[in-house]
Amino acid sequence: MRTKIVAGNWKMNKTYKETKALVKELKKSIKDVALVNTRVVIAPTFVNLQKASKMTKKSVIEVASQNMHQADSGAFTGEISAEMLKGIYVDIVILGHSERREYFGETDELLALKVDAALKNNLEIIFCFGEVLEDRKSGNHFKVVESQIKNALFHLDSDAWSHITLAYEPVWAIGTGETASPDQAQEMHAFIRELVAERYLSDVSEEVSILYGGSVKPGNAEEIFSKADVDGGLIGGAALSVKDFMGIVKAI
Ligand code: PEP
Repeated sequence: MRTKIVAGNWKMNKTYKETKALVKELKKSIKDVALVNTRVVIAPTFVNLQKASKMTKKSVIEVASQNMHQADSGAFTGEISAEMLKGIYVDIVILGHSERREYFGETDELLALKVDAALKNNLEIIFCFGEVLEDRKSGNHFKVVESQIKNALFHLDSDAWSHITLAYEPVWAIGTGETASPDQAQEMHAFIRELVAERYLSDVSEEVSILYGGSVKPGNAEEIFSKADVDGGLIGGAALSVKDFMGIVKAI
């Protein structure tokens, strides 16, 4: 049975004080929820990761980093390595978010290096990809998603896939209030699973969790999550509110 995941990407939001308050509230609220085969992940900013990691030690909530550098160490001012994340008990990293691709020039080739570095350090990866609006309008969305996945992940052997979660995030639906319809999400997720099945054995494609991301809210989560190939969500804006995030967790 595939694991369901609800992951909150806090982006560049929440100070140290605000992080502590939000984590505290989430921990409290999540105690009332019966989680069946479901993982709940939060991704605060780098400076607040260690605090969040400590605070959630005895909670079901897991902590992820929003990014990391591909090198082990060295002259890379402002960057953080996989080993540093492991050192503060952070075992998950989000890679390939569209904001990293768009504003920080992260390419598929660079992401393949980051994927390798994360796996070398035994980090789990939530790997994001998705088409921009023009690709969707021109009918190129399947091709774009296919190349993003192939270029960054298809060099891996089957075993590595137990550390990978995929996150389909159509860029036109991120932070816009515009959501892919549940059928659009299902169509793409089924395509992705088929793609993975063609490259690997079907036990890899059947086991990999594929999350949907893009303006998921408590009001639309249940319908999106009800689709056969949607195994949860990567949540941006709604992850910053306990009420909204918990609403989404309950929807799953
Ligand atoms: C995201 O940034 O991954 C995301 C899905 O954002 P939002 O939920 O705000 O659209």
